[in-house]
Amino acid sequence: MEMTPPGYLRPRQTAPLTELEDARIARICPGLGQDVEPAGRTDDVLWGPYEAVKVGFATDPGLRFSASSGGALSALLVHLLQSGKVDAVIQTAASPKVPVANVTVLSKTAADVQAAAGSRYAPSAPLAELAPHLDSDLRFTFVGKPCDVAALRALAAEDPRIGASIPYMLSFFCAGVPSQAGGEAVLTALGTDLQSTESFRYRGNGWPGRATASLKDGTERSMTYHESWGTILSDHAQLRCKICADGTGKAADLVCADAWHCDDKGYPLFEESEGVSLVMARTETGAAIMREAEDAGQIELAPFNLEDLKSIQPGQLGRRRALLARLAGLRLLGRPVPRYRGLHIFAAARRNSFAKNLRNFVGMLRRGLTGRLD
Ligand SMILES: Cc1cc2nc3c(=O)[nH]c(=O)nc-3n(C[C@H](O)[C@H](O)[C@H](O)COP(=O)(O)OP(=O)(O)OC[C@H]3O[C@@H](n4cnc5c(N)ncnc54)[C@H](O)[C@@H]3O)c2cc1C
Repeated sequence: MEMTPPGYLRPRQTAPLTELEDARIARICPGLGQDVEPAGRTDDVLWGPYEAVKVGFATDPGLRFSASSGGALSALLVHLLQSGKVDAVIQTAASPKVPVANVTVLSKTAADVQAAAGSRYAPSAPLAELAPHLDSDLRFTFVGKPCDVAALRALAAEDPRIGASIPYMLSFFCAGVPSQAGGEAVLTALGTDLQSTESFRYRGNGWPGRATASLKDGTERSMTYHESWGTILSDHAQLRCKICADGTGKAADLVCADAWHCDDKGYPLFEESEGVSLVMARTETGAAIMREAEDAGQIELAPFNLEDLKSIQPGQLGRRRALLARLAGLRLLGRPVPRYRGLHIFAAARRNSFAKNLRNFVGMLRRGLTGRLD
């Protein structure tokens, strides 16, 4: 994987592929398509299959504070490590070299997990160095974006080493990955740049927490989540993320998200407060981890009504319902579209108004005709 302008991680082909290898990539790559099997689980049209859904937070106040929302995801990881279910976590953390970028790390202790807590709104490739782990004697939990987990789950169906080495796959809701240029644009808006910056947090240290650059001269500059994500980073998300049918980690055992508080009109508030995560167990394995982490006192959970998710996650809701219209626009432009099965894209589109579907369809056509698709 290598960084390509304007700052996305892309695979570089280094040798020719056999037909078999090519066909295998076509089956596994979530960029090309994704299949979801409800397999007896409750299967919500908008939010996918699940076994249990709750809200909660890490009982360790330090972890809750450093994490993105309530630190539930990190608390589940700490539980998996401390209960001996896994030896290490494959996850993403800040790059020590390029402050706005990411690296894949192997966490073996609670302190390692806390150091990697917090969302990093920049490209990551946590599957890139998977091969050596599959031949080691260690057992891992994997944390990745929904697309990373979809790829790993699809690969697991063909490679039995994955199930044996990586018994737990965790993810989070994902609105799309901004390019590294997005992170650099946040630095510019803060009046600094990569060279002058020692380290950079996209959020965390509070909920949602401020995007914070710690400069080499010892000073700090920051902006709110609304300013960083809402006015800069979200504009740097790539097209593929805008036609993603799975921003909510449907292939994962467990997914976490922001359980935003809402105003009287049901719109999420981004005012600083103590973090709360949504915790959704999608498999029985995930539901068992959730229960065990609660019993072990790592996480505190409360009931949650899935109907409330629509107002908490308006971005995810809008993209799910607009997907069919966007795909239809791309198809008309003669562009390839992903193959989606079991993701209810027709049913989701029926929950959108005709006007919104039309706007998304025309919007995609306009992007194509004005050369803004690439
Ligand atoms: C690109 C992106 C888009 C997101 N979009 C949404 C959204 O639309 N709605 C929503 O509710 N939440 C979204 N989130 C997730 C959200 O910010 C929190 O991760 C989630 O609320 C869980 O919080 P937590 O405190 O339980 O997680 P934490 O305890 O803070 O754990 C976060 C975990 O995510 C991993 N991680 C961080 N950045 C990356 C990355 N770039 N790639 C792979 N792994 C990473 C860390 O290694 C860590 O294990 C997004 C996150 C990212 C990175």
